[in-house]
Parts: sequence; structure tokens; C-alpha cells
Amino acid sequence: MTTFDLDNIVRPNIKALSPYSSARNEYSGHTATVFLDANENPYNKPFNRYPDPLQAELKEELATIKRVPAENIFLGNGSDEAIDLPYRIFCEPGKDNVVAIEPTYGMYRVCADINNVEYRPVELGEGYSLNADKLLAACDKHTKIVWICSPNNPTGNNLDRKQIEKVLSNFNGIVVIDEAYSDFSSERPFRLDLEEWPNIIVLNTMSKAWGCAAIRLGMAYASKDIIALFNKVKYPYNINLLTQQKAKEALRAKIDVEKWVTVLLQERGRMMAAFTELPICEKVYPSDSNFFLAKMTDAQGIYDYLVEKGIIVRNRTRVALCNNCLRITIGSKTENQELLAALRRLI
Ligand code: PMP
Repeated sequence: MTTFDLDNIVRPNIKALSPYSSARNEYSGHTATVFLDANENPYNKPFNRYPDPLQAELKEELATIKRVPAENIFLGNGSDEAIDLPYRIFCEPGKDNVVAIEPTYGMYRVCADINNVEYRPVELGEGYSLNADKLLAACDKHTKIVWICSPNNPTGNNLDRKQIEKVLSNFNGIVVIDEAYSDFSSERPFRLDLEEWPNIIVLNTMSKAWGCAAIRLGMAYASKDIIALFNKVKYPYNINLLTQQKAKEALRAKIDVEKWVTVLLQERGRMMAAFTELPICEKVYPSDSNFFLAKMTDAQGIYDYLVEKGIIVRNRTRVALCNNCLRITIGSKTENQELLAALRRLI
């Protein structure tokens, strides 16, 4: 079992940090009517006021929908903020390292590079499967974070739950599990089992199933102690008022999301079957997401042809283990039809 001790892995400067105390932090009551504490302008309501720094109302609504207590939620400016913060909280630049599955979402590496933290990619096995022992073998005493993404991007598949649990049980640093695409999967999300793992951080986003990529809202779910560290290091007002309002509206229209997901999953089945029939497609990989990976005869040529037709897919041919692969996002029925029609003309 993991001998995880949060106190041991936090950077000393973060432990010692006195965070900025904003006006809205110092007075968070609801009875005052005259606000002369934040050098705001009294005119131009409601945009004259700073937003709630800890987004209490929004977190209450999220807590109900996601079945995670509000005190276990951090909200960030997209998942990107929640990906960057663990580096700043746990990793000593030039000394510590992180281990990640390969291939996976590119921002884990970019944030490592920005923070001058060594990034150790560990290739997935047959069928893009996770081997916990291989991942653990890449860790040493300076490994602070292990990055796992399930369903994984760009491969689309869920990673084996038992293997993920093995990593969680045996690694005594932080394990981040990015569940950006979990709304498209029938696998039980790890966010529902937070209390079992003191070292887990689960990521979610409003950008995929919730259809709100423009508002930039990502979530991290973790123990209260880890959330306290995120709140200590984040910018004071990291989630603006418009985003908080729009997110609440989106959460109240949950029924739309369920409909979208149903249609997208049907379309995914139809698109994957159609790709299998294309002579220019060699293999379609299984997907638990709103996209799938397809091995083509000539990914670059097909990508260029589609761009010319005004259709953009993601060319992943230069990504490890994805030679000649295109990543296809499931669009509306019309968009999907346009893609298929263009590819059929190519034959
Ligand atoms: N995680 C994964 C696995 C992703 O694929 C993406 C977007 N491509 C994100 C996070 C980014 O989410 P956000 O829009 O919340 O920054």
C-alpha cells in the first residue's frame, strides 16, 4: 500500500507561502450592503464587482451533479490550469520529475517543460493498454506526479481500472487521472472514489460533453488538503463572473447534455463502422470518447486533401505509436456526413 504523506511531497516554498488575501476572501459574509473594501467602481453593475474567489454557488451545484462534495472541488481556467498547478505545488524545477503514459494529451508535457520539470513518457502496450508495473518502474525518489488519462486522448480508449488502481496503491506521490471524456464512457469515474485514495487528483472539464469549451472551466477533485493547496497557489479571481454564470446555466440544462451524449455515441458507432469500410482506412481503434483514432493508408495525404475541402481532422501521425493515424472528433450528423462523403470521393 502507498505510504503517501502529502506533507512530504509539497514544495517547501509552497508550504511556507502566505497566499494573497483578497478583499472578497477577508469579508465573505452576506449581510453587508456597502462595499468600500476592494477599490471597485460603484457603477456598471454587476460587472463592477469582483467575482466569488472560491465560486461557492457554482461548486454547490456541481457537487450535486457530479456527486463530489463541494469541499473536494477546485475550479480552474480550463483543465489547463488544473494541469499546471500540480507542477507548481509539488515539483521542484530542475530536480523533480513526472511519469506519464505515452501517447497522451500534450499539455502534461508542455506544462512540465514550462516548469522545467523532467517528463518521463512510458509507452502504452498492445491495444494502447496500461501496464502499471512498467509505469511504476519509471518512477524514482524524485517522481512527484504520475499522469494518467482515461479515456485517453488521442487513443480514445479507457485504461484498465485494476491497472490504474495498482498505480494508485503503489505510488507514494500524486496520481492525476484526467477524466475529460468520462461522460462518454460507461466506466465508473474515479471521482466517485476520492476517499479511497489520498494521493488522487481527478480532472474534468466543461469543454467536452457539456459543450462549453468557450467559457474555460475545468475541475479538479481531490482530498480537502490537496484542494487547499490548489486554492493557495491559484490566481485570486481565476474564474470570472460570466463563466460562473454560464456554467450554472449549463448545469441546470443537464438534460441537453444527456441528449447530446446519446446522439454523439450513436454517431460514433455509425462513423466507426463507415471508416472500417473505407479502403483508405486500415484500422479503427475502439473508443470510449467523443472521437476515435483511425489508422489510414496515408494520414498526411488524406489530412491535406480534407483541409482543401474545408474539413479539419487531427493528424496524429507524428505522435508515438500513432503512425498514419487521424483522430476524428464526432460532429453533428451533417458534419459527419460531409467527412464521409469527402473520403468516399477520394477512393
Ligand atoms: N484533458 C484532455 C485529456 C483533453 O483532451 C483536453 C482537450 N483536448 C483537455 C484536458 C483540455 O480541457 P480544457 O478545455 O478544460 O482545458
